[in-house]
Amino acid sequence: MKLAFFYPPVGNLCQPYLSTPTLVAHLKHNGVMDVKQYDFNIEVLDELLNADRLQRAYRWCYHFLNSFDQRRSVSDLDLVQAQLALASLPSAQKTVAEIEGAKRVFRTFEFHDQRKYADALQTILSSYQLLSSRYFPTVIENQSFRMRYRLDSSKEVLAAVEDEVENCFVEILSKKLDEAFEVDGVPDIAGVSIGYYEQLVPGLTLARLIKERSPRTHVTVGGTMMSALVGKAFPPEFFQFFDSLLFFEAEEPLLKLVGAIEAGRDLDNIPNLVLLRNGEIVYTRLASSQIEADSIPTPDFSGLPFSKYLSPEPILPVAASRGCYWRQCSFCTRQHLLDTFRQRSPDRIVSDLKRLMQVHGARMFFFVDECVSPPVLEAVAQRILAERLEIRWSCYVRFEKKLGDPDFCRSLARSGLRMLYFGLESACNRVVGLMKKGTNKDRMARVLNATASAGILNMILYFVGFPTETREEALETMEFLLNHRDGVTFALPGQFMLEEHSPIFESLADFGITEISPLGPSSDLGIIYRYKTNCGMSAEEAAQVRDYIEAKTRELHALKFLNRSHLLLWEPSKVPKM
Ligand code: SF4
Repeated sequence: MKLAFFYPPVGNLCQPYLSTPTLVAHLKHNGVMDVKQYDFNIEVLDELLNADRLQRAYRWCYHFLNSFDQRRSVSDLDLVQAQLALASLPSAQKTVAEIEGAKRVFRTFEFHDQRKYADALQTILSSYQLLSSRYFPTVIENQSFRMRYRLDSSKEVLAAVEDEVENCFVEILSKKLDEAFEVDGVPDIAGVSIGYYEQLVPGLTLARLIKERSPRTHVTVGGTMMSALVGKAFPPEFFQFFDSLLFFEAEEPLLKLVGAIEAGRDLDNIPNLVLLRNGEIVYTRLASSQIEADSIPTPDFSGLPFSKYLSPEPILPVAASRGCYWRQCSFCTRQHLLDTFRQRSPDRIVSDLKRLMQVHGARMFFFVDECVSPPVLEAVAQRILAERLEIRWSCYVRFEKKLGDPDFCRSLARSGLRMLYFGLESACNRVVGLMKKGTNKDRMARVLNATASAGILNMILYFVGFPTETREEALETMEFLLNHRDGVTFALPGQFMLEEHSPIFESLADFGITEISPLGPSSDLGIIYRYKTNCGMSAEEAAQVRDYIEAKTRELHALKFLNRSHLLLWEPSKVPKM
């Protein structure tokens, strides 16, 4: 039985994603050896960001503008596209001439020349601008892709997947699939991993193209994004593109799925699947994953196109745990997606790092965990130091008391811990209490001072407009960040979104929410809701305050990088600023 896993556009250009390497490792560990994986995110974007394709986009825009005056009718969309094309054309030939050199800068040690890095980044951004002018109303940006279709409506998603004109991925995905099938053969089972909202249309397009080429292939789609949609009444039409939808942790159901298909058995007893039965959508039984964290094999990145990632050396994602050990934040949906917390032992974590150093020569690691606890940080750092592993690593953490200890932070930094991500969310004690973050402003200040003085880069995530938050309280967060600017490497405000399956969604009145409604009509795939509150800022006011804070804190988001993971590669003093 031949298996193939695909990771669709649009994602990080600088490193692989962890989903398919985790599944490939698990299957091989369980004796399913004929498994291939394809990172079509990097493959497709590499082909879009290509001199020939950009030249074609330039010519298309040029002819579009030249023939504009002769048009009998001009729509509003045509006018916007003309403005975009006009803005792109002056620099288009320079972009075409420089794109291959720009990719080379990112892929070689020219990367460390700050001027070259900044120029290469500008070329990539100009390329996206030119492509967006060509494919408008489809817009492609760095790690972002949107069409005119709404993603919260299955009808619109279906239309986007089948739109051969505005869906700019159809042609390249088709070509990449044909090449893959010719070289490696047509798989019996194909999996498409959809991690983000932006990947929903490209991922389902990929599933459609696989199914069109090989109707006999069982196509299954899964990933974090699909898991977020669990419980939705998917339209039967989706099942033209795939045969099953697999949600939550995939390893165990996937292995059972392979066994059942191989033996010709029914799939209805396999947990966590959505199937089409006699024209009806059927959910099989729900089950929590029973996999022990230490029994998960080291991820297998074999076959991925390492020479194409825009990074001079491999940056690899790894995981120290499954789920979140805190599990209390009132706005968070992670508890729903991963209902148990399982910690991998420090010995296993460090043996993963050593194995990946050996196989891929990797020295840069990014832990994808929701947050790593201080005891695990300490144990991993001690082992890295004891084994003299020359690596750099980064991870998400909470504002735990222990991280306010300068000696502790210095020992973490000595082990190569280079960058920490904090979900600060708010620096107002009342708001952060309501969020159940389990922290406070004083502790945040102590932690930021201790980590920064140890030479660790601090990436801060926060948002404006938590229900009941007032304008003054949001500005308190802004003041806090500006007052602690020496401890903050990067911080860009977001805005609160009311998500289905979050604790707050289950007790709206406790958060002053008086009314909720879907974002749009026929929003059958919607997981984000509009809301009204009886106190604090409205969503509209929160958007204005967020913009105000963004403008006032420009110095805190003035770093210029293609992806945050690039920060692992620079010395802290050499991180380029705008
Ligand atoms: S926001 Fe982060 S720390 Fe809080 S519950 Fe969610 S994953 Fe855990």
